[in-house]
Amino acid sequence: MPLANGRQYLAIPGPSVMPDEVLKAMHRASPNIYKGELHDLTHSLIPDLKYVAQTEAHVAIYIGNGHSAWEASLMNVTSRGDTVLVAEAGSFGKGWAEMADAMGLTAEILSFSEDGPVDPQGIEDALRKDTKGKIKAVLVCHVDTSTGGKSDIAAIRAAMDAAGHDALLMVDCIASLGCDRYEMDAWGIDVTVSACQKGLMTPAGLAFVHFNDKAMARRGDNVSRYWDWSLRVDPEVYFMHFNGTAPTHHLYGLRVALDMIKEEGIKNVWARHEGLAQMIWAALETWAQDGPMKINVPDRTARSWAVTSVFAGPGNGLALQDWCETQTGLTLGIGLGREPSDAYYRIGHMGHVNAHMIMGVLGTIGGGLTALGIPHGQGALQAAADELARHTPVKRSDQLIQAKGNHSNPEPASQCC
Ligand SMILES: *Cc1c(COP(=O)(O)O)cnc(C)c1O
Repeated sequence: MPLANGRQYLAIPGPSVMPDEVLKAMHRASPNIYKGELHDLTHSLIPDLKYVAQTEAHVAIYIGNGHSAWEASLMNVTSRGDTVLVAEAGSFGKGWAEMADAMGLTAEILSFSEDGPVDPQGIEDALRKDTKGKIKAVLVCHVDTSTGGKSDIAAIRAAMDAAGHDALLMVDCIASLGCDRYEMDAWGIDVTVSACQKGLMTPAGLAFVHFNDKAMARRGDNVSRYWDWSLRVDPEVYFMHFNGTAPTHHLYGLRVALDMIKEEGIKNVWARHEGLAQMIWAALETWAQDGPMKINVPDRTARSWAVTSVFAGPGNGLALQDWCETQTGLTLGIGLGREPSDAYYRIGHMGHVNAHMIMGVLGTIGGGLTALGIPHGQGALQAAADELARHTPVKRSDQLIQAKGNHSNPEPASQCC
């Protein structure tokens, strides 16, 4: 008999879990779009969007999803016929290349293994060969959501500098913004592409492009009025922020989501995601000691803190997702990119996620492994719990003082339930 009724948990790599505070902020009548509160609120988002990406660069907000940000970013810095170098190690890198190709650009693709990061040396070599300076930009996903692989963006910048090439560095951090450490300015990124429905905990519909002055100066002849970022960052009239009616309710939701991130502190947000990822890895690595399961990316330093792709054996990935959804109310991500796709599943652990939610996901997967007869190592949940304890140490002397206090002030009987 299914045990699925209760609060459903969507543990896919976007859209992510929305905080009740975000949903509540959106549950209201439309505001006046011509003046007042909405204008102030929109302006207040800009410094906070810079803060989450750790940058002083400009930021344009678009009504759109991540794909729209891919297109917007390319349009503003290229002319038709230009060449861009796409370093890819998964489906999302390939997708950005396809987008460039469809826009009349030549996408030169550097492919890397789909169980790890892109290799900065490969980028350096490709740029050194480009003696005529044909390559206008290097495109890379910080995290490729299909594989769970994370690339070292600072090392890529260093490789570009070593090659002495002046291509722009354009980074898709859709799966990592507000989850993994991401430092646009410190890492020398020229253009950052992101969206609101993953680490920023807001329903899909807003896309962001951060760009520095160097990128702004690269303006080609490809940009349409709608996607032109320069009109959006410093408009004379409010409606040009969005080239039309503002996405009013998304802005209310995003305001609260950014407040939550600011209150926690971006570094603490990163540390939380890192700790939760380590709980997941501890469990998966224990299961992997016996049977087919393994984390797609073997190298811990190249693993995302927000999404994990897991090989579970042919048919097993799909069976596990199906069992979790129908029997327990947990929705896992489908295998994406890797073949056979039914051998894989993904866990989204981005945004509004905490330790007990992760323990719930892991315990549920553990139940599925047994129910489906998938062989696995023992002790995974204890390994995750130990990892949790390691991240949350407590001074025992504080507990003893508290215990004494409770003894002299017993709880009223009426509160016993
Ligand atoms: C989710 C995602 C995208 C696509 O975003 P959409 O909103 O689905 O268009 C692109 N790149 C990465 C790395 C992503 O995680």
